[in-house]
Amino acid sequence: MKLDLRKIYKFEALELVVGAALPSGGDVFYECTKCKSVVSSVPYTPAECECGNLKGNKGSIKIGDPSLVKPVRGRLK
Ligand SMILES: [Zn+2]
Repeated sequence: MKLDLRKIYKFEALELVVGAALPSGGDVFYECTKCKSVVSSVPYTPAECECGNLKGNKGSIKIGDPSLVKPVRGRLK
């Protein structure tokens, strides 16, 4: 079953620093701008966006194309 994080979290965009690594943390999520899925930046269970650009598990995430990733901060609703 696919969990829609937008139902539990309110997301706000984080500022992107050009050339710097993407922010990560327990309250940071990555939105894939290609398929619009949201995946935790530190996923402890297998997580993947719909198009496969973001794939994570065990606390780390692999990003296919970083230009398609928008970091957002999530707050529980
Ligand atoms: Zn995607």
